[in-house]
Amino acid sequence: MTTNIELKDIHWLIDMVHNIDVGLVIIDKDYTVKVWNGFMENHSGLLTSHVVDKKITDIFTSIPQAWLQQKINSVCLLKNKAFTTWEQRPYLFKFKSYRPITSNAEFMYQNVTFLPLTNIQGEVTQICMIVHDVTDIALSKQAFQKANAKLTHLSQTDALTQLYNQGYWRERCASEFMSHKNSGRIASMIIFDIDHFKNVNDTYGHPFGDEVLKGISDAIRENSKKQDITGRFGGEEFTSLLIDTDLGCAKLVAERLRKAIEAIHFEFQGTVVKVTASFGIAQITASITDHEKLIEVADLGLYIAKNNGRNQIGISEH
Ligand code: GH3
Ligand code: MG
Ligand code: MG
Repeated sequence: MTTNIELKDIHWLIDMVHNIDVGLVIIDKDYTVKVWNGFMENHSGLLTSHVVDKKITDIFTSIPQAWLQQKINSVCLLKNKAFTTWEQRPYLFKFKSYRPITSNAEFMYQNVTFLPLTNIQGEVTQICMIVHDVTDIALSKQAFQKANAKLTHLSQTDALTQLYNQGYWRERCASEFMSHKNSGRIASMIIFDIDHFKNVNDTYGHPFGDEVLKGISDAIRENSKKQDITGRFGGEEFTSLLIDTDLGCAKLVAERLRKAIEAIHFEFQGTVVKVTASFGIAQITASITDHEKLIEVADLGLYIAKNNGRNQIGISEH
């Protein structure tokens, strides 16, 4: 009678293990599969009879062996659970996503728990892997992160030129200034403004003016290093903070940019239109105590360049 009750219990337990909506895999310490439930059958397309008594790493060759060995060793040694999340490893078993219509996931994202199973002597003899389908969570988190990154980009970027906007550029400039002051490293600033840009708009129209601003922004990108902090400071005014660059080098950079702008051939209804720009440069020195002062000194240089006839570089003695 007692045996009957136990057998019945085992029967429904096995039924539950087979039908539960999570993957259950039991392997020996040598990776041989002992249990493979319905979830695993359905998503892998491999029946229990095909998988049992085979090595898991032979069936799923994409599982990194060294990584699995390390996981299993730690579970056996510590007799404690171990986990892997979809963020660390998107999946352990590569299963096709079964919601290709409602989602754009190519595969099932998984969280996996490794559970030590002990014999009656308390020794870990087998490991149970519990596989959770977390595709929905992973996709919504990824969509959220993507939307957040897009918002961050929009809040920092000027829409027309794709350079930093003034607000973000000032923020970056302030923090870079402090770190350069603190470390005693050098940095220089370039400010430049397109010459007679109002004439360009008045003669060829505002949309053409926008094309000129975009073309000049491309020239800035082409003439900048990755670490330069480059922004659109205002309407037709641009700025670049050059890290680890002294005034002499900043002058060379500004001169290269000046020539590059001068050489651009914009085209309006078959007519070539050319523009020039005037530059002001300044370097962080002992008397320049904050980034606003650095901007001010560079701006004074720009004022000098404009007054001296434009299309040139001005430096203020301040
Ligand atoms: P200067 O050589 O002294 O700098 O003369 P300028 O004509 O360039 O300077 P001014 O400040 O008189 O004119 C700047 C012009 O830039 C006026 C403004 O309409 C134009 N501008 C500002 N932002 C934009 C923009 O986003 N697109 C276009 N197309 N024009 C813009
Ligand atoms: Mg101008
Ligand atoms: Mg201006």
